[in-house]
Amino acid sequence: MKKYDIAVVGAGPGGCMAAIQGVQQGNKVILLEKNDIIGRKLLLTANGKCNLTNSSTLEVFLEKFGKNGSFYRDVFSEFSNQDLMNFFQKNGLKLKEKDDGRIFPFTEKSKSIVNVLLKVLEENNVDVNYNYCLKHLQKAFENFELRSTKNEVIIAQSVVIATGGVTYKFTGSTGDGFRIAKSVGHQVTDLKPGGVPLRVSEEWVHDLKGVTLENVGLSIGYGKKKKLLSSGNLLLTHFGVSGPVILDSSNTIVELMDVHGDIKLYIDFVPEIRPETLGVCLVEDFQKQSKKSLRTYLTNHLPKSMIDPLLNNISIDPKKKLNQVTKKERLNLLETLKSLPLTLSGYLPMDKAMITCGGVSQKEINPRTMESKLVGNLFFAGEIISGCGGRGGYNLQQAFSTGYVAGNSAAKILKNNKTM
Ligand SMILES: Cc1cc2nc3c(=O)[nH]c(=O)nc-3n(C[C@H](O)[C@H](O)[C@H](O)COP(=O)(O)OP(=O)(O)OC[C@H]3O[C@@H](n4cnc5c(N)ncnc54)[C@H](O)[C@@H]3O)c2cc1C
Repeated sequence: MKKYDIAVVGAGPGGCMAAIQGVQQGNKVILLEKNDIIGRKLLLTANGKCNLTNSSTLEVFLEKFGKNGSFYRDVFSEFSNQDLMNFFQKNGLKLKEKDDGRIFPFTEKSKSIVNVLLKVLEENNVDVNYNYCLKHLQKAFENFELRSTKNEVIIAQSVVIATGGVTYKFTGSTGDGFRIAKSVGHQVTDLKPGGVPLRVSEEWVHDLKGVTLENVGLSIGYGKKKKLLSSGNLLLTHFGVSGPVILDSSNTIVELMDVHGDIKLYIDFVPEIRPETLGVCLVEDFQKQSKKSLRTYLTNHLPKSMIDPLLNNISIDPKKKLNQVTKKERLNLLETLKSLPLTLSGYLPMDKAMITCGGVSQKEINPRTMESKLVGNLFFAGEIISGCGGRGGYNLQQAFSTGYVAGNSAAKILKNNKTM
């Protein structure tokens, strides 16, 4: 039976960082991973390029985690985006910044990130036990007993659970940690998909699959309320909508859909122009370019393939010359360009989501140490903790920061116990 100071379960970004911190404070650490490699999901991030973190401020980071954001104030302060960048740079990896503050390895290859983690784990003699799938965790007196699916037993004084969420299950993140956390008394909040494409009822939209709407504004309507979301690129698909602006907003939308059922999505094709200004422009343009067809004119505002289906949808003939368009039709067009209503009727299943929203309740975790408030010397790191972030490198930073704090806190407690 092997005995360790700290056992870390799951070798994703959260678990690797926790193990590195634990061992660097002089502890004997084992990292348990059910796959035969570390960071299997990490390798897939940003289409294999890995959007490691973001250069934005702490306040933006907290905002990106929505109503759960303030829980992360301490961990993002203790191990910030800059600290994470320094960690990789000190270990020989060049990084680069792209649009919206997104940080990538200079190679734009996730493998470079995984290689650094492997190198540091090796240099620090972390005992990495591959093909070990934790099945059962039990606290017996001062120690934990960890038992695998093959009945291999490991004893550890502290345990960090970093088994991830439940998306892209083939990477190993199958939700085992949620079951284990429940078995020791923790509550797991509802698991919902985050960063997920959405279904739209209007079939004419499905026929436009593959069309990208560049820099459109979005808002949603539910009950009697309307909420403005962000702007960006939207991709039409055979089932509805996806693309950066949808994946960014889907966490909020999914929550609202679960309460209100179908909700309306309004697309603003020209968010930079106010409705009154656009109304005046249309009147002037329709007079000056009176012989142009509506179809040709609208290429100023819409992708070509979208024009006929959109006009058919509001019963205006695309072949009409601008001087034949009636006032009613012009106002209808204005309304559509500023606020095309679509019906959101659902979202894709969890396995197609980038991130799991929900997990071990934050109320039961100490935000300064990541230690369980219910079981002493038990820590959590990464996606297993409830509360998911938006796209842009925020979720990997969450995994690394919580891993850093969990590993350090586990080490500190052991040190205090040794000196007592
Ligand atoms: C396609 C895709 C692209 C993404 N791109 C980005 C991006 O560019 N930037 C970003 O910030 N975020 C991105 N994310 C989110 C990011 O990958 C996660 O937030 C992050 O991987 C979570 O890290 P983690 O360590 O908590 O869990 P994981 O990375 O899921 O690692 C958990 C590990 O635990 C292991 N494990 C599970 N159960 C057991 C068990 N019982 N015993 C032993 N081991 C176990 C698993 O095999 C796995 O290796 C993306 C996600 C997906 C799916």
